[in-house]
Amino acid sequence: MREIILLKYGEMALKGLNRSTFEDVMLRNVRRRLKQVGAFAYTKAQSTVYVMPQAESDAACSEMLEAAMKELRYVFGIAALCRAVECEKDFADITAKAVPYLADALGSAQTFKVEAKRSDKGFPMKSPEICRELGGILLQEYSHLRVDVNNPDIIVTVEVRDTHAYVHAAKEKGAGGLPVGTAGNGLLLLSGGIDSPVAAWMMAKRGVRVTAIHFASPPYTSERAQMKVEQLCEKLLPWCGSMAFFCVPFTEIQEVLQRQCPEEYFTILMRRLMMRIAEQIARQNDCDALITGESLGQVASQTMQALACTDAATALPVLRPLIGMDKTEIVEISRKIDTFETSILPYEDCCTVFTPRHPKLRPKLDDVVAAEQGVGFDAMIAEAVAGTTKKIFAYHSQ
Ligand code: ATP
Ligand code: MG
Repeated sequence: MREIILLKYGEMALKGLNRSTFEDVMLRNVRRRLKQVGAFAYTKAQSTVYVMPQAESDAACSEMLEAAMKELRYVFGIAALCRAVECEKDFADITAKAVPYLADALGSAQTFKVEAKRSDKGFPMKSPEICRELGGILLQEYSHLRVDVNNPDIIVTVEVRDTHAYVHAAKEKGAGGLPVGTAGNGLLLLSGGIDSPVAAWMMAKRGVRVTAIHFASPPYTSERAQMKVEQLCEKLLPWCGSMAFFCVPFTEIQEVLQRQCPEEYFTILMRRLMMRIAEQIARQNDCDALITGESLGQVASQTMQALACTDAATALPVLRPLIGMDKTEIVEISRKIDTFETSILPYEDCCTVFTPRHPKLRPKLDDVVAAEQGVGFDAMIAEAVAGTTKKIFAYHSQ
């Protein structure tokens, strides 16, 4: 028996005129993702993408499907995925294949119903008739089952399409969201902590292609701390796709800041300097927004007044997807996306090295601007931008 994968869109199905652009981007992402798995053919119809393995034997196809399902769970834009058996467009063939194919799913269920979708209106049976007939046969074959049309354990779906009919039972939840690449490019300020990788995942889920930037302050921060950040990039690749990573030499700026500026403003000034550098790197790399892992009230630099001072340092929009989330909710996502264990490795970040004893909780922009006057940061920013290194992390199927 030959199987294929059906990919169902979520929110994308609601798009009006733009829909085909969203579909095209998703299909491109799916193709790219499965290139290393093997040769597949693709078609799309009615909010569904059909992924068909092109191998000689059923066994080889089945292996490819297994690997493809693993990859596709990470692809945003897919609301649900299901494996389905391919049948001839002939009711006898549909039942002959459906009965053995559904053995596992129906064996462990108590109730079921059959749904039919008929995009080929030339098929001799209408949908209610397909449901009734196939339902009857399944009841005969699996005598422990009952039909429950309102709340069945299993919904058996028959889809009669252009060239074949397909039968499937179980739907698996997909990554949801919108396809990466449909919402523009964003530059993520990536620390080694728990929050910023989660912010990356959340924006990728809304269709943003993410590029990362990290500020390193050797020797205050170690090489291992930077390796940890790079490892976080790698962890994000299955969701975000290949990613460019920029590393900014930040030591001199932090030392000058510490020597010449009032201690209570260290953190807020540092964040403003990060924004100004990130903005330049963003503009050079076609990114239209900055992304951070800030969450309201989490630390002194994340009060409303402090965020306002940070925002004032850049003309780019700053996206903060975690702004209203509790730490426990953020940790839950970081575990789910498998960045948590890396994030809690104990290497220092440049922020922690230079933390003031009594940071200003409600800084006023005028005072902050006054505190950074006359230090000559412009030249240091230019130097840091010039010294920034770039690395590309390419995604490879696992
Ligand atoms: P995280 O868990 O992401 O480190 P945090 O709660 O420790 O966040 P801060 O250290 O105040 O908060 O940093 C707030 C945000 O600033 C981070 O989420 C990240 O986006 C950015 N940031 C902080 N330090 C760095 C750094 N060294 N390089 C790049 N971005 C940074
Ligand atoms: Mg941090």
